[in-house]
Amino acid sequence: MSKDPKAMFSIGYGLYVLTSKDEKDSGCIVNAVMQLTSSPEQVAVAVNKSGYTHDLIVRSGKLNINVLSAEAPFSLFERFGFQSGRTVDKFDGFDFWRTENGLTALTGEFCNSVISLEVKQSIDMGTHTLFIGQVTESAVLMSRPSMTYAYYHANVKPKPETKKKGWVCKICGYVYEGETLPEDFVCPWCKHPASDFEPIK
Ligand code: FE
Repeated sequence: MSKDPKAMFSIGYGLYVLTSKDEKDSGCIVNAVMQLTSSPEQVAVAVNKSGYTHDLIVRSGKLNINVLSAEAPFSLFERFGFQSGRTVDKFDGFDFWRTENGLTALTGEFCNSVISLEVKQSIDMGTHTLFIGQVTESAVLMSRPSMTYAYYHANVKPKPETKKKGWVCKICGYVYEGETLPEDFVCPWCKHPASDFEPIK
């Protein structure tokens, strides 16, 4: 059997805003969150090393998992996923509250639960760090179903204009116009590589 990268899309995921804080607050979008044990409650989160939030988690040893609901709009993904906390304040003009650990948390508008973690182990995965943490507090904010990765791809990210010729980012929907996509191309919105683009049919 050879390898089909599309097989990975069959694994089920949710979508989350991770928040952390050191000299300032920031947050990012992640999909790889998993409860490992219930007694004590331990959760694993994989975070891309290139993001500012990654460095905040390394320095503070704390993070909040904000579980997005299916109603979360694309603008929320743009705010937390398609810009860097190094250059912008992602909470500027955005409604939030603080959990007991001092970190920011999303309100119940598009977030159904908040889970606070204290990092107990960090595993170097190359491009990502896998943080394993113990739950220090948690709250259910509202009862709407959680956003899944599949629902995001089907209903939230913008559909490319079919008249255009080019390549579309499978992650965020950014359209690159042109016959050939440069091999070293990086998506200007979500920073994913050329391998995450597919031709517009
Ligand atoms: Fe993208």
